[in-house]
Amino acid sequence: MGEDYYNNNNSSSSSKNHKEKDKTTSKVRCVALLSGGLDSTLAVKMMKDMGVEVKALAVKTPFCDFDCGKGCGFRVKEVADALGVELKTVYLGEEYIEMLKRPKYGYGSGMNPCIDCRAMMYKLAKEYMEECGADFIVTGEVLNQRPMSQNMRALRIIERESNLEGKVLRPLSAKHLKPTEPEVKGLIRRDMLLGIKGRSRKVQMELARQLGLDAPNAAGGCLLTDKQFARRVRDLLDHVSNPTLNDVELLKVGRHFRLDNAKLVVGRNKDENELIQALMQDGDIMLEPKDVKGPKALLRYSNGKRDGDGEEEEGKEEVLALAASIVCRYSDADGPCVVVVSDGITTKEIKSEPIANTMLESYRI
Ligand code: SF4
Repeated sequence: MGEDYYNNNNSSSSSKNHKEKDKTTSKVRCVALLSGGLDSTLAVKMMKDMGVEVKALAVKTPFCDFDCGKGCGFRVKEVADALGVELKTVYLGEEYIEMLKRPKYGYGSGMNPCIDCRAMMYKLAKEYMEECGADFIVTGEVLNQRPMSQNMRALRIIERESNLEGKVLRPLSAKHLKPTEPEVKGLIRRDMLLGIKGRSRKVQMELARQLGLDAPNAAGGCLLTDKQFARRVRDLLDHVSNPTLNDVELLKVGRHFRLDNAKLVVGRNKDENELIQALMQDGDIMLEPKDVKGPKALLRYSNGKRDGDGEEEEGKEEVLALAASIVCRYSDADGPCVVVVSDGITTKEIKSEPIANTMLESYRI
C-alpha cells in the first residue's frame, strides 16, 4: 500500500470497477463491527465504496463506555452518521462480567480477555447477520496489530468460537489472509482489498486522508487494558464471587482502598461524590466529614452484608475506624475530625485522626 490508495490498489479501472459493482454487488449486504476507531471506520468506508450495503453493529461492554471519553466507540454514532450507515448498538452486561471471571483464552497485559471478548462480539454479529439477511461480516482487524487478539492464531480461534469460519472479511488485511467466502463466491473482489499488517497506523492515516475521512481516534479504548484499572478489577474478582454491574460502575469512580473484606471508595470531586452516592446500595455504608469540606466515601463489604457474629462485628468496627481515618485524611481538616457514618437508616459519628500517608498507601488498590 503506497501513497495513493485508489491509484495504487484499484489501478486504472477504478471507475469501471464501480460500474461493474453496481451490477454485481447491488444486493450484497454485510454486517460490520464498528467501534468508531480508525480501522473499523476504514473497513466500512471500503465496503461502501465497493457498493456493499453495510449494517453497522457497535457492541458496548461495561468496560468500554461510550461516554467515558476514553475511546472504544464513544464516537461511534457520529462516525456511523458520517459514513451514512445504519447503526445498531448492543449492550453486553452480566454475561460479559461472567466471562471476565474465567475467560477461556486468558487475559492480555491488563485484565483484557480479548479473544473471548471478540468471540462474544462476533457471535452478536452473526445473530445480526442472520436477522438482517447479510452475506458476511466485516471487521477492521489488522493482522498483528494487537498482540493478543489480532494474530493469525487468535483470528482463527475467534472465528471458530463463533461459528463464523470463512465468513469474516477483514478488508484492511485480506491479502495476508485466506480468501473468505464472499471473495470465493465473487461477492467481493479480492484485488480491491488491502494487505496492511503490523502495529503502525501510518498507512491507515494516509488512507483516511485519501478517502476524505476525518481520522477518528486510532487507539480505541478499553478500561481493561489500563494497568491501574486492571488492579481494581483483579481485586474485585478476588473478593466478590458474583460482581454486579453496580460493582463495575464503582470501579470507575474515585480512589480505591482494600480494608480487609471491605472496599472503600473515596470521591475526588463533587461529581464523583454524587456518583458514589448514586451507586450506594443496601449493605453499603456512607462516610463523610462533619463541619469541614471533604469527600464522600462508600464502604462496601465483599459479602454485601454487615450483620455477623460478635467477632465479625468487632472486625467491622476496626474497618470502620480505618475508613473514617482515610476520609479524615482527604478532608480539609488540619487535624482530627468527626466523620458521619450512615447505612441509609441509622447514622453515627466517629472521632478520627487522619491516617499517615505511608499507612494509606499500604491500603491502596
Ligand atoms: S481491548 Fe480486548 S477486552 Fe477490551 S474491548 Fe477490545 S477486544 Fe475487548
